[in-house]
Amino acid sequence: MNILFAASEIFPYAKTGGLADVAFALPETLRKQGEKVYTIMPLYNQVNRDKFDIVYNGLTFDYWLYGVRHQFDVFENKNNPEELFIYNPILCDRWGLYHDDFGDFGDNALRFGLFSYGVLEVMIRMKLKIDVVHVNDWQTALIPLLMKTRYNLKQKTVLTIHNMAYQGIFPKKVMDELEIDWNSCFKFDGLEYFDNVNFLKAGIFFSDNVTTVSQTYAQEIQTPAFGETLDDTLRVNSYKLKGIVNGISVEVFNPMKDEYIDKNFSIKTYEGKSINKTSLCKELGFKEEQRPLFIFIGRFTSQKGVDLILEAINLFKSYEANFVILGSGEDIYNHMFGNLVGVYENIHVKIGYDEAFSRKLYASADFLLMPSLFEPCGLNQMIAMQYGVLPIVSKTGGLKDTVLDFTDIKNIEDSKLGLGITFDEYNLFWFNHALAKAFSLFGNKTKFEKISKHNMSIDNSWIHSASEYLNLYKS
Ligand code: ADP
Repeated sequence: MNILFAASEIFPYAKTGGLADVAFALPETLRKQGEKVYTIMPLYNQVNRDKFDIVYNGLTFDYWLYGVRHQFDVFENKNNPEELFIYNPILCDRWGLYHDDFGDFGDNALRFGLFSYGVLEVMIRMKLKIDVVHVNDWQTALIPLLMKTRYNLKQKTVLTIHNMAYQGIFPKKVMDELEIDWNSCFKFDGLEYFDNVNFLKAGIFFSDNVTTVSQTYAQEIQTPAFGETLDDTLRVNSYKLKGIVNGISVEVFNPMKDEYIDKNFSIKTYEGKSINKTSLCKELGFKEEQRPLFIFIGRFTSQKGVDLILEAINLFKSYEANFVILGSGEDIYNHMFGNLVGVYENIHVKIGYDEAFSRKLYASADFLLMPSLFEPCGLNQMIAMQYGVLPIVSKTGGLKDTVLDFTDIKNIEDSKLGLGITFDEYNLFWFNHALAKAFSLFGNKTKFEKISKHNMSIDNSWIHSASEYLNLYKS
């Protein structure tokens, strides 16, 4: 099969969240299984062309929209020409992918509309033989609409929704800027949305298949509580909606090879994990390193349960445990977590995005805190388990599909899922109850270690899910 996989961010070139990890690992796995997969993303200013050997591939073209000329230059990775990049000044010349400190860029509709046109023009001009065009989230969700209403292209289209909370909603005047056909598109079963336009909605109606990143989330988003106002759209399209759980790259997130961590380790060399913990505790000035170490890593947004974490700080400070919080996001949360920097000796807070530090945390921690309000799939819990960490998660979306509570199974080794602690109700009482379970389990060293090693043995790779995608492409 020949697949064109379009995404607005791909690891390691640009990453703001899980989409980048998926857009790297799924194509990579499919390639290993013998498929031809082209990936294509914007060549933002911040992508390091030298470091990654990204070179101009000789193709430059103009595309006129609404009387304006837009120039596109195409680049590729010198070591893998199937990795393509599009440069256009409006799309790429700015700091930040979707927003800066003042909010979302005002021309995001144009930027990602241009990217969508660019992707199709590259496919046509490079004469790529493609069977399936796989698009991701609102940034590329216009592609199936353009294929059907403007280009008359027949390739199969698949849209993956990584998070319903981000839909790409814009005033309807962008229809003209992007020369989208009013008659065939500005309607309920198109991109019309309360007299505005909604790119994700367009993707849902115009794609042949829609997937989302876990089975539970695929059910949840068809209800008003999780559908972010598109639950009716999803119910209408439920015949083509499927949940396929994400995997993680076990090459990238591998405690045996991870170059960011102090001591590489495996189930056989498990002692390495405590060496990492000791050195991290030293580095952060934690006094009692034999205490359990809890970590939180993620975007500071209500989705990730940061309100619960903030509520729980008063408990954390009095517990005989160490806590590390790494993240950044919405101003209000940056500010509130910023106020906690250096305040409590058992709570270390770091505001920012730091890949290296995150790996050290995974390698050292005993428990990962992930009390999400909703979670399409979540990668942190799977990454954490690779490093022998026990996730403490709310029972929602992909967290429900990937983590089993250790008290829900008799024999640890019988569990196909990784084990941790799960709680049903999103509130401080049940979160604290989960912490209490963690303390009690940590007191039983033998059992704790058995579960930790079990988690390291679980297959959270892309192998199974990539095959599911392949079946979908072929269907
Ligand atoms: P999201 O909803 O943000 O996509 P996921 O759990 O799907 O959440 O993926 C998050 C990815 O981003 C993981 O690889 C995680 O380790 C990483 N990550 C999130 N925040 C940070 C941070 N502040 N520093 C380093 N890595 C981070």
